[in-house]
Amino acid sequence: MRFPLALTVKIARHIIKHKILRTPRFALVLQLEPLHTCNLTCTGCGRIREYSTSLKDMMTLEDCLGSAQECDAPMVSICGGEPLIYPKIEELVTGLRDQGRIVYICTNGVFMRKKMKDYLAGIYSPALEPTLAKLLAEKLILEKDAESIRKGKQDGRPVIKPSKWIYWNVHIDGLEYTHDLIVEREGVFQECVAAIRMAKLLGYQVATNATVYKETDVQELEQMFQFFSSLEVDGHTISPGYDYDAAKKDIVTRLGKKPEDFFLTRAMTREKFAKIQEWGERFTIFGTTVYQEFLAGKRELTCTAWAIPTRNVKGWKAPCYLITDGHYRRYQEMLDQVDWTKYGVVDGVVRDPRCENCMVHCGYDPSGALGTNYQGGDNWKMFKYNFWPRPAPYYEGRKVNAFNGFSVGKGHLAEAKAAINCGQAEPKNMFDHHSNNGNGGSCGQGDTSQRDELLARVREAKKV
Ligand code: SF4
Ligand code: SF4
Repeated sequence: MRFPLALTVKIARHIIKHKILRTPRFALVLQLEPLHTCNLTCTGCGRIREYSTSLKDMMTLEDCLGSAQECDAPMVSICGGEPLIYPKIEELVTGLRDQGRIVYICTNGVFMRKKMKDYLAGIYSPALEPTLAKLLAEKLILEKDAESIRKGKQDGRPVIKPSKWIYWNVHIDGLEYTHDLIVEREGVFQECVAAIRMAKLLGYQVATNATVYKETDVQELEQMFQFFSSLEVDGHTISPGYDYDAAKKDIVTRLGKKPEDFFLTRAMTREKFAKIQEWGERFTIFGTTVYQEFLAGKRELTCTAWAIPTRNVKGWKAPCYLITDGHYRRYQEMLDQVDWTKYGVVDGVVRDPRCENCMVHCGYDPSGALGTNYQGGDNWKMFKYNFWPRPAPYYEGRKVNAFNGFSVGKGHLAEAKAAINCGQAEPKNMFDHHSNNGNGGSCGQGDTSQRDELLARVREAKKV
């Protein structure tokens, strides 16, 4: 099965209940953004730009848990910003599980190993020694980490435990060179792979989460699926990158590019996703079959953005994750007051110019699950999607040349470092927890100073 049976049943019951009650609009997945602070500054990320004036603000734990109860979505995707920076992330995950919800922790992966070491310390007993030995042998923890795990956890706080109800959803946009380029920092891909290996070894469920841009090489995407399938990840979410205002502005002002050089139009999305159904046969793609057909240009869907609402420090963001026409205090208030007929593209007619190129999963993936634009055979496709055995791991993927950048001395800053003659003799993982303060670099401020300074000096060097 694509998901554990209990999860599929939970979501199916929720949809059937609302169909019987004839609820016109209801939430399937809550995108909860407890904070917008992030330790990275990815190209194309609208969050850290749109909310740049409130990066230090965060939702209270009570507000987060109350929002989940308020919209009653069976699944909560905790995103941000970087949710592992949220000081009460463990309490949040525990609270959502106490409410019986499925939890996705959407992370850039940099702090995952730290959280898993906390978990190990929280459950430590001598019976854990074989696991520690394996982690040490695989170089996923250091001897000093093992020592600290053996001391146990003293703060009495909860930990994030492996569970069939919880997924780590790790942001991965390509193989090493591409991923580090997009997240604008070297070493992140390497850290993500280590975190995913450690998570699988400890019995967590892990998905990868990719955004496809104009520059994304489709062949590389396939290699990425192959590689992560060989690590036995449990699934892949994939969505086209979209030129929403905040991200567009950043591309123009900071990087000096045109939005159309980076983001996808509808036609380009269909081209890039032409093979998605084939990938769906070979890899555990999480978008429904109907959404996959939509991405491949084989059918139209109507946007159901209300089914994946976004809640953040400012309130319920309307109408969707991408466009902000307002923030509401209550989910129901948003449902009632937004004129949903103004948005989306219906039968080729663009209702709002900002929706023209949007095919993102948070607008259209629920449309498949909710049966909007139903076509004969869809029920069978959805049944097969949920209940058929999922594709087996592709162990040949271990042969993929995934580490094609920073770790072999070809990081995106290589040219800059060479130009100013300050390169390191050996490539070094700047996120290595024993190489610095353990915080994974300049956390919390969206600090691009290293990259910006180096690139400025390259430009200067080229002038002379
Ligand atoms: S990891 Fe990247 S995409 Fe995610 S919030 Fe941080 S900057 Fe944005
Ligand atoms: S189509 Fe839907 S999800 Fe996409 S931008 Fe418009 S309202 Fe938002």
